[in-house]
Amino acid sequence: MGKTLCKLAKKGELKEIAEAARTARFICKKCGRTAEDRKSLCSPVPVEEL
Ligand SMILES: [Zn+2]
Repeated sequence: MGKTLCKLAKKGELKEIAEAARTARFICKKCGRTAEDRKSLCSPVPVEEL
């Protein structure tokens, strides 16, 4: 797995996270992180399913 937003969050890269959250379509079930691309999350689910 590449570098997920979940990992970036732990490193405090908030700018990248804020940008991803703007167009978020997936949410990480494990960490509560949001992203446009499911590959950016470690345990993604589409936001429409919640
Ligand atoms: Zn995660």
